[in-house]
Order: sequence, then structure tokens, then C-alpha cells
Amino acid sequence: MADAIYSTARWRRLRRAKLVEFPLCQDCEAAGRLKPAEAVDHVIPVRLGGEAFPALSGLRSLCNRCHSRKTARGPEAGAVWTDKPIKGCDASGRPTDPEHPWNGGGQQTFEALLKPPGLRRSAVPVVLVCGPSGAGKSTWARKHAGPADLILDLDDIKQQVSGLPRYATSREVLAKALKARNAILSGLWREQRYDHVFFIVGAPTSAERTWWIGQLGGRVELIATPLDECLRRITADPERTTEVARMIRAAQRWWLKHAEDTAPHGQKSHHNVRM
Ligand SMILES: [Zn+2]
Repeated sequence: MADAIYSTARWRRLRRAKLVEFPLCQDCEAAGRLKPAEAVDHVIPVRLGGEAFPALSGLRSLCNRCHSRKTARGPEAGAVWTDKPIKGCDASGRPTDPEHPWNGGGQQTFEALLKPPGLRRSAVPVVLVCGPSGAGKSTWARKHAGPADLILDLDDIKQQVSGLPRYATSREVLAKALKARNAILSGLWREQRYDHVFFIVGAPTSAERTWWIGQLGGRVELIATPLDECLRRITADPERTTEVARMIRAAQRWWLKHAEDTAPHGQKSHHNVRM
């Protein structure tokens, strides 16, 4: 009966929409962990009178581990209503993890969003496209990517999660986009749909670039476009008018960090680092 729901095209569409809205496991996220969602679960089980195809708020994105923990408590693939505390939370639902934002761990969590812990090596080659704002990173990636390559660009993801113009942003949108980006990154170890992943990230210092390559594997493409040219492009792009000031600061910050990083070695400003 309930099983028939899960084989319909309508369920598959709903499931996909939920995973786009919440690409992370919501139980893990509530406990301060970031894990990609693999299953979609009814908040109110169909067996208990819940709607088969509810609004997205009537569904929950879960990882397999959290999902099977729920299934183990009841016969249906959907959730079972229970008063039992969720693992990682006390009886009132408050996370027991001291790093969780509810317990004052918010700062560290945002840091963890920027550099997510526990990534595994990508199954497909990664090209880490680095450089300042306005350097032309996404233009470079689009030029070099084939039809079976994924371009992972935070600006695109921000636009998708917010519905706002490409360069408009807020801290909330940024956090949501980083979660979605990280969910994609943490699934790369078993990725088979793409030939390459072009991952666009600022990473002004070699330590940051080495960190990413250490996590995901692959190589670095450094697009170190000179600052004055970055600023010229930022101010010339009509799409960027609302974000010009922020992007100029970002480009200046990138060049400052990059200069500090490379000063002792006197490296050339435009080069590729192969790893
Ligand atoms: Zn989970």
C-alpha cells in the first residue's frame, strides 16, 4: 500500500524537490553534523494518516543512517511518531553536542561550512579554480569544461537557493549555499555522472589550496588576474551593480593574502600549480 507511493513519478519528483531544498540530512544538521541527505521521509507516516504527497514541509531529508534508525523503530519507510529522543539530542530535542549553534558553537559551525571537515577523495578528477573576485574563474571553467563536466560555483548555488540575482547575497543565503555546496562535495567520492569537477573557490594562499587538494585530490588552476583588471571587470559588469563594493573588497583582500603568502619566494603573479 504505502510502498506503491514510492514507485510513482509524482513521488520521485517530490523527493527530488525536497533534496534540492534540503540537500543535507536534517537530523544530522540538528545535531551539528553536515551529511548529505540520501532519503526523504514523511514527517507524519502515511500509515498513521499522513498525506502521501505532502508539501515539502511535511517531508524530511535524511542520510541513510538516520533514515534506517527511524525505520528500525517502525515498519514503514516513513518516520514513526515517537517521544524517544533523537540520537545526539536530549529528551527536549536540544542537541547534546557542545559545538552545536544552539549551544554556542555557531562560529565554529560557520568556519566548518567554509572548510567542511571529513571530505573524502573525489572519484572524478577535480580542477580547483582559484583566484580573486573578478578574475574570470567561472569564464575560464566554462571555456575548459566539457559537456559531462560539473562546474561547482558558489555564486550559481547562491542564486539557486535564494532566487535572487547572481551576485546579491546575505549571510543566510551564503550559509544555505555553502551547505548545498558541501553536500555536493561530500558526495564526490562516489560520483560517476561527471568526467571532471571544476570547483571554483577563492583560496588565495597555497595553504588553502593544498588543504582542498588534500581533501578532494585533483589539481589547482590559479587565475591570478591583476587587481586593477579585476576591479575593471567588477565595475564593468551590469549584473554586479548591487555587489560592486563587496566584490572590490573581496578582490583586494584576496590580493593582500596572496601577496603575503608569496612574498618570501618572489613567485610570478600568474602561474599554474600542478599537483
Ligand atoms: Zn543523518
